Amino acid sequence: MEYIIVKEKCSSCGLCADVCPVEAISQIGPYLIDRQLCIMCGECLNECPCMAIAPVQTD
Ligand code: SF4
Ligand code: SF4
Repeated sequence: MEYIIVKEKCSSCGLCADVCPVEAISQIGPYLIDRQLCIMCGECLNECPCMAIAPVQTD
């Protein structure tokens, strides 16, 4: 599983990048989660006002 940002829903507010503890989200748009860095903590998902971040099954 990994978290992705659904770009059609993203308002580019930047809150997710601000709260990510490992800086896995790019600071400039388009906002993307680096799956190599993401530790799946869920902070960005809780913070996103647009519900643009979703867990997806990758296996
Ligand atoms: S789940 Fe946690 S580590 Fe992964 S991008 Fe979101 S805030 Fe960062
Ligand atoms: S918090 Fe949500 S709306 Fe804001 S930049 Fe991140 S994904 Fe986009």
